[in-house]
Amino acid sequence: MEKLDRRYENPTPVPDWWTSQFEQIEAILENEIERGEVRVLATSPGGRPVHAVFYGEAEPACRGKANFNSAVAGRQPSAFVDRAARKRPVVLLNAGVHGQEMEGMVGVLSAIRIMETGRDVQGRPQEALRRAFDTVRLIAIPCANPDGRFRVPYDGWVGLPSEEMHRVGQGTRRDGSLYGWPGCKVVHPMVGDVGDLGGYFDDAGVNMMHDEVFDPMSETTAALLRLMATDAPDIVVNLHSHENPPSIHQLSYGPKSVKERIVAYAERVYAGLDRAGIPHMGVPEVVHDDIREGMMKSFNFGSAMFHAGGGLVSTYESAHGVSDGLEPFDYERILEAHHILFGAVVETAREGASAAL
Ligand SMILES: [Zn+2]
Repeated sequence: MEKLDRRYENPTPVPDWWTSQFEQIEAILENEIERGEVRVLATSPGGRPVHAVFYGEAEPACRGKANFNSAVAGRQPSAFVDRAARKRPVVLLNAGVHGQEMEGMVGVLSAIRIMETGRDVQGRPQEALRRAFDTVRLIAIPCANPDGRFRVPYDGWVGLPSEEMHRVGQGTRRDGSLYGWPGCKVVHPMVGDVGDLGGYFDDAGVNMMHDEVFDPMSETTAALLRLMATDAPDIVVNLHSHENPPSIHQLSYGPKSVKERIVAYAERVYAGLDRAGIPHMGVPEVVHDDIREGMMKSFNFGSAMFHAGGGLVSTYESAHGVSDGLEPFDYERILEAHHILFGAVVETAREGASAAL
């Protein structure tokens, strides 16, 4: 599929270090990885590879004889994975499920660069973060939906209007009208009345966030759920973006105690952002997944990840830096917020925050 048309110029130049194009991501994975192990997890409907980079050895001796669900039913979660016995907790950073949300892609590339060189994508030393990452087994996925990323004609959103971000992200009907939110979710897969196919979707029109998780339409969805079952991350950060300041979103359809731990983790991330003077949204609430105002919550990809492999599974929404967001953000701040997030993620993983599951 072709790239969508570009209707605006970036009001502030996208910095050279902001390597968010699919081709740039591929080049980094091909040429710059020495410590990590690059694996192809899946191939997209558009024929593009979905890569993950692994840092640190797996600890198969900690893996039990049961899948997660059976171990839980057997009242022995360690029959899935003995998390307490792990020398290094496992952290999964999963970016780029939505192709227009390139902020997390750059954030994950920065994590990869820090692991490889001790410096971030801006070339600044990040010794503390490197030492922190070296205490965990890190699985980094910079771009889970390369088809969507490829179709998006912009490399960054700072100073652009959110309406344009929604056009290329969520797409349009044939008459050019925006699907918008939540309209972009009531046609799925997104086929038929499609003008611009948004970056939310792969080339087959699948939005992985709402795939048929028990019988996935997307090979990547299946591969990521398999990764949860085989590698059992202790903490998973699904990296997304929105027009507002950074926000941690709660897990749906998980145990109350896991939701409480996500609250504590969010407070830690927000405290770090506060120290850096970076605005953020509110702390996620612990709520029952009940029907409210006639609506139930969706059992989305994050929910499925939790039920495939346990752990603390939540979503980080970065700021895009659009011109009409609640607070202004530039590229440096967006990246800095990701580094703060990663520090808090490792601290949380080191605490054995999900030791019970
Ligand atoms: Zn998203």
